[in-house]
Amino acid sequence: MEALLSAITPASTRLPGAAAAPADAERAGLLDSALFAHAESVSNRFFGKDVYYRGIVEFSNVCENDCGYCGIRKHQRRARRYTMPADEVVEVADWAFKHRMGTLMLQSGELNTPQRLKYLVEVVQAVKARTQALDAEQRSLDPSQLPKDTTGLGLCVALSVGELPREQYQTLRDAGADRYLLRIESSNPELYASIHPPAQKWENRVRCLRDLKDIGFMIGTGVMVGLPGQTLRDLAGDVMFFRDLGADMIGMGPYITEAGTPVADMWAAQFEGVDKGAHMKEMLTLTTRMNALARVTLGNVNIAATTALQAIDAVGREIALRRGANVLMPILTPTKFREHYTLYEGKPCITDTAEECQKCLNARLSMVDKKLRPGVWGDPPSYRQSV
Ligand code: SAM
Repeated sequence: MEALLSAITPASTRLPGAAAAPADAERAGLLDSALFAHAESVSNRFFGKDVYYRGIVEFSNVCENDCGYCGIRKHQRRARRYTMPADEVVEVADWAFKHRMGTLMLQSGELNTPQRLKYLVEVVQAVKARTQALDAEQRSLDPSQLPKDTTGLGLCVALSVGELPREQYQTLRDAGADRYLLRIESSNPELYASIHPPAQKWENRVRCLRDLKDIGFMIGTGVMVGLPGQTLRDLAGDVMFFRDLGADMIGMGPYITEAGTPVADMWAAQFEGVDKGAHMKEMLTLTTRMNALARVTLGNVNIAATTALQAIDAVGREIALRRGANVLMPILTPTKFREHYTLYEGKPCITDTAEECQKCLNARLSMVDKKLRPGVWGDPPSYRQSV
């Protein structure tokens, strides 16, 4: 814990948002360079230059929860609500498979209703059936003849649809879903409580993560970096939380304010008078430092260079790929829905098409001497070792 803490804090007196003294800045720069180089070498050892894609479809912004930071929370009045028709999601899956994405992530607001469960089961089954058939056609194989291993036919389906009862997770797993992403948001229960309404309990998030793992999902989790009230000790605790949970994938992003949310007001009160642009650049460094520490501590898990990094810096994700991250998540949501899935201010790519996103990312990867590993699920070696 103390070692992690000192690596997160190269300039030991610095707290998020506070300016470093010049002497500290020089020392911090040297320590950062060493940490980032080490993280890159660990990534290279496990993944070489390979980057895995997870195409993400934000299929609904309807949400019954009220997370204090989120632009699609139930009480965010500006959000125009939508749910994509199931067949449009399958069309996107078709496109993703043909463009060799390997994994499709279905993400939404949270809704614990029988109708939503039915919709999800139908979509998961249809995506699996459709892409397995396409794959079998291509490989001239009968899908039923294939061994049930972790890298199978068609697309790997990942879900990111929030907290549900264990039985629903089991139903979704039985329908064919392979992975589940549920960020813990913060491993500190008190900080978690300060950014969620009382009905949303930290203990339930942990219960969900444990149930998901127990049921056999590959699990992803993560936190937001730079939340009001967050300390560097909280962040060190987050890395230990990931390790203790046995996460297969980590997705961390900077916290970005969204007007009209309670946490944006908390942020404004804490950082009053701070140069926001400079602060957010610091959060980019802090987030990539967290990615690097996760890489060094957890070894061969998958780590995402998240979209929120690009909201801060046009090449934020590319920077992350040189500091321990090995996964990119191009947004495949049809353009007509994108602007309504606004989690935070300045979310990038909201007017782009899936084609544009993919072309853009391919070009960006070559800039940082990485290359797409197309058409594979990209299971983390950590998961393959544990099954
Ligand atoms: N509802 C599902 C859940 O909570 O797991 C998935 C959708 S939720 C919108 C996806 C993630 O967006 C959250 O886990 C959170 O970390 C991130 N997010 C929401 N608001 C954000 C903000 N203002 N800044 C940065 N990330 C944010």
